[in-house]
Parts: sequence; C-alpha cells; structure tokens
Amino acid sequence: MSGAGGAGGTGGVRPSLVIVGAGPRGTGLLERIAANSAELYADSGLDVHLVDPYPPGGGRIWREEQPPLLWMNSQAQDVTMFTDDTVDMAGPVREGPTLHEWAELDGRHFADRQRQGAYMRWVYERTLAALPPGIRVRHHPHRAVRVGGPREGRQQVWLEGRPRPLLADLVVLALGHLDAELDTEQKELAAYARAHDLVHLPPDFTADSDLSALPPGEPVLVRGFGLAFVDLMVLLTEGRGGRYETGADGQLTYRASGREPVLHVGSRRGVPYHSKIGYDWTGERPPLPRFFGPGDVDELLARPGGFDFRRDVWPLVEKELGFAHYHRLFAAHPERTAMTWADFERRYEKYTAVDSAGGAGGAEIRALVAAAVPDPADRLDLSALDHPLDGVRHPSYDALQDGLRTYIEGDLGRRHDPAHSPDLAVFLGLLSVYGQLVRLGDIGPWWHGFFSYLASGPPGPRLRQLLALSRAGVLNFLGAGMTVSAEDGVFRATSATVPGAYVEARALVEARLPHPTVERTRDTLLRELYAEGAAATPEGLLAVDPADGRVLDRSGAPHPRRFALGPHTDARGSGAFTRPRTGGPAFRQNDATARAALAFLRDLSCRATAA
Ligand SMILES: Cc1cc2nc3c(=O)[nH]c(=O)nc-3n(C[C@H](O)[C@H](O)[C@H](O)COP(=O)(O)OP(=O)(O)OC[C@H]3O[C@@H](n4cnc5c(N)ncnc54)[C@H](O)[C@@H]3O)c2cc1C
Repeated sequence: MSGAGGAGGTGGVRPSLVIVGAGPRGTGLLERIAANSAELYADSGLDVHLVDPYPPGGGRIWREEQPPLLWMNSQAQDVTMFTDDTVDMAGPVREGPTLHEWAELDGRHFADRQRQGAYMRWVYERTLAALPPGIRVRHHPHRAVRVGGPREGRQQVWLEGRPRPLLADLVVLALGHLDAELDTEQKELAAYARAHDLVHLPPDFTADSDLSALPPGEPVLVRGFGLAFVDLMVLLTEGRGGRYETGADGQLTYRASGREPVLHVGSRRGVPYHSKIGYDWTGERPPLPRFFGPGDVDELLARPGGFDFRRDVWPLVEKELGFAHYHRLFAAHPERTAMTWADFERRYEKYTAVDSAGGAGGAEIRALVAAAVPDPADRLDLSALDHPLDGVRHPSYDALQDGLRTYIEGDLGRRHDPAHSPDLAVFLGLLSVYGQLVRLGDIGPWWHGFFSYLASGPPGPRLRQLLALSRAGVLNFLGAGMTVSAEDGVFRATSATVPGAYVEARALVEARLPHPTVERTRDTLLRELYAEGAAATPEGLLAVDPADGRVLDRSGAPHPRRFALGPHTDARGSGAFTRPRTGGPAFRQNDATARAALAFLRDLSCRATAA
C-alpha cells in the first residue's frame, strides 16, 4: 500500500476502485486520479486495487523482463506519459519528462522496450508519490477472471486463484492488447500441423512466442511484414547469435551464427512497412486540420443514416492528406511546381474529392495535380502507395529478391532525404486525421492497417538489417498476395508476384498480433461481460460512452459502475504512446474517466456520511 489513513467511506467501508490492467493505460489513469484528486476527492479515503499479473507501469507489453534486442518503434522524443497545455481536458496539466529526457537519450534514438519499461515503472512510482495520503494503492499480481455485482451496487472482481473477490464501488477495465482464440483458418492450419508433425505458430505477441520449435537451417514460411515480423526477424537472427558488421561504405553484412532458420516472408502487400522518416521538420507546418476537422466529424456523426467509411470519410481523409502534401511541396520546392500556391489552393479547395461514380480521388483534383505538378514522383497517390507491387511480376523468386531489395533501398533513401519532405507533411496529416477519426469510434480495421503501414513502420536501421539478411540468404521475399495452403504433408506458399511458383516448408509463422474480438478474446472477463449484455461494435470492440468511458449495454445505457479504456474499446484513442504537444486523445479520455470516477466516489461517500 502507498499513502496512509483517511476517513470517510461507504457506511464505514472505505470506497474502493479496482483497475484491471496496470499497463500504460492503467498507469495513465492513475496519474489523472492523482492530478484531479485535490479538486474532486479532497480528504475522503479511497482504496485503489491494481490487478495485473505483470508489474505495474509497463504491464505485459513493456515489462522489463524481455530480450533487450526488441526496440520500441517510436523515437524516444515522441513518447511521453505526461500532459501539456495542448490536451483538451478539464483536469490540471501535470508536466513531466518524455522518455528521451528521462533516460537522457538522443531524441531520435529508438529505445529498447526494457528501457521504456523502466520509464513506465518510474512514472508509476512518481504517480504513487503524488497521490494524497487518503488514497492507497495496492497491486494484486493476478489475472482478473470475472466481474459481477448488481448494476446499482458494489461490484465484485474475481481473481484467478483467490477464493474471495475484491469488492469495488467502481471498476475500470484497462485490459489493452489481448490474446485471441484461433479463427477457423488458424484452427485448420494448427490441426494440419499436429497431424503432419509440422510447426505452426499462430498470431501472438512475438516476445511471448516459443521460437525454439524453428530449427536451424530449415525453411520457415512467414506471413506478415509489419512490426511483429521485425520482432521475429530480430529474435531469430541476432537473438540466435548472429551479428552485423559495418563496411567502409556503411553497408551492413550479416555474419550468421548457423543457428538461424531460413525465412521466406510475404504478405498481402508483399513489402515491409515504410521506413520511419529520418529527418526533422523545418519551416512552416501545413495548417491542419483543413478538410477534415472537428466540424466535419460533427457533421458525419449527425447524419441520420450514419456514415460509410469508404463513401463518406475516406474522400475527406484523402483530400486532407493531399492538402498537407501539396502545401509542403509548393512551400519547400516551388521549382517542382507549375502554378502559384494561391491558384492551386483556390482550385483544390473548390473541387470535391469524390468522382461522379462515387469513388474517392476526384477527377478534377487529379487533373489539377497533373497540371500543377509535372513530375509524377511528386504527386501523392495513396492507392499506389497501398499496393506497391500491383502489376509487378517476376519470372522467379531469385529475380524477386533483387527487385525487392531495390524497392526497400529506394524507400530507405527517400524516407531519409528531406528533398521528399512532402512525405513528412503527409505523416503530419495522418496524425491529424487519426486524432479526428477517434471521435467516429469503430471504423473497421482497414484504416489502422493503412496508417501503420505508412506512418508506423520500422526504424531505418531495422530495414538496413533486413537488407543484410536478404543478401546473406537468411531472409527471402515471397511477394504480394501471399497465400498459404496445407497440402502433401507440408505448408506451401504462393504469391501473385511470381506466378506459378511456390515455396514449401515444414514451419509456418503468422507474424502478426492477435486480433481479438469480445467474442474471440481469451480474456474470460471480457467475454463474459459481452455474454451478459455489454455492447460491442461490428469489429468486436467493447462499446463505451465517448464522454467518460462507461461501458454501454446493448440498449446504449452506460453502466454506472464499470468503465473501460484502451485498445479493446471503441474509444481507443491513438493506438500508440502520446507524442508531446499533440493534444493526446488518450490523455483526454484518461482525464474524463478519472474525473467521472472521482466524482461518483465522492458522491457515494457523501451519501453514506449523510445517511
Ligand atoms: C508488441 C507491441 C509493440 C508496441 N510498440 C509501440 C511503440 O513502439 N510505440 C508506441 O507508441 N506504441 C507501441 N505499441 C502500442 C502501445 O504501446 C500500446 O498501445 C500500449 O501498450 C497500450 O497500453 P494499454 O495499457 O492499453 O495496454 P497493454 O500494454 O496491453 O496493457 C494492458 C495490461 O492489462 C493486463 N490485463 C489484461 N487482461 C487482464 C486481466 N483479465 N486481468 C489482469 N490484468 C489483465 C495485461 O497483463 C497488461 O499488462 C505497441 C503495442 C504492442 C502490442
């Protein structure tokens, strides 16, 4: 316990708040409880029970006990757990150091996850110290398996291996990233693997996967080219004793340990996520939001028939990203344009981003861009970016290897060259759009994948390692439109990029994070909550009240005593840590939930005292 004594309570019993999940969201909520308690909770006593089998602060994903080879995917200067005056919230700002300030790192450094875990632990301890004496916190290193209790009364939170539940006046579920039961395809592949003595690793958190089943020198099919793939690549190469040498020309050479398997990787797009951009912004920023701001979101939310993402939202997003791109191109490289910015902007503003046929990317805008931007490489084509290997064909897998290395080298070069700073403007546009989309709730998985592919790819050094592994033959590319079948006692992969060819292996790794829904999560607590009437979105996210995070039932009524925050809800905020001075929707949500919880508990105490 931290803190001391404190009178008050419900009929002599101290009020109690149970927070399930003590990762970044649970910790961020506690920070907001500390910040708001002076105003809202004064001297009343409160017991806060933090339930998580993993250490509070980092929780499961950021626990300090994990291989130091795994890096964060954010630069240290882009990670903060502290609010600033850009956050639109009712509670007070409590400033504190970003990861790079706290760890005294170069701001552009990609810290390892252990280090982030240490930062999170420090944030947690600092938060405990900032709580008023009447608020005591206790960590229970257990899994919570069920929440029960009447709607209007005290809740019970049952912990694994504990005979009696924790009693709670309020419960907050900050459950975060969850494991999922296998879907039909994964079940079939797993059954085939069992029957034929093959290895099948389904979607998982790579740091938690048992990779020892992948033998040295044996081919392994890998499906997925995002961040889970990068973790897998690192653990199976450097993690097995390989190392990199840097040549006089700066190029990396991989020195194998001999314990690596031979990876064959492909995906729908067939290419890795775009490299992180390797230079800083200079000069005037595009004035965002411009074509997709709060007013547009209000208008979409007010539509009586609802909205369709592709039809109603995407054209606005496309116009916004185009605006960011061309604003920068005209400002930084007027010599690469054939019109004044004033003329371009006037016409761009006027034209709609919807074709007469209803598709995004309006014909008038395309014609305007063609006239104003002579070099096609300077035009923004989101569809081409999303399908980089469309129409690309190679006669053999050997030919594809050279082709893809050239593609990745091109991407690395471009993303580290400020001459292409409109790319960075689009990145700023993506962040702005993300902030707006949060208010629309569940918009389906496509946008999140697209955002990650463009804005949340690997650090440049990881792609240089990937190229070295490719040159060393430890990693081979399969191409786009990858399919996997289980036949003739093996797994067989094909792709659209090398028609007619295939690669066989006795091992298949699904290199992507689990995608749980409220029905398919392995978390019994959440599954049961759903079975008992909590509402969910079509994507399988728990529906919460956007105002304060209260869990909604299927009639839309908020549960008075249950809240939920984080990626398993439809008010996910950004899926990442907050960057300083960006308004942080997650901070706003944490603050609103903390204030609603404190106000409820205060009223409860007052009622009990009056009675
Ligand atoms: C592998 C990975 C890498 C990432 N890398 C980055 C990055 O580099 N940069 C970035 O900005 N973002 C990154 N993110 C995203 C971001 O960090 C996460 O969104 C963040 O961890 C979310 O915090 P959270 O507390 O909501 O969820 P989590 O971190 O998942 O924490 C939830 C906690 O709840 C606990 N829990 C769940 N169910 C129960 C239960 N029933 N009983 C008790 N405890 C329970 C879990 O043990 C866990 O500790 C990454 C996410 C993942 C999965």
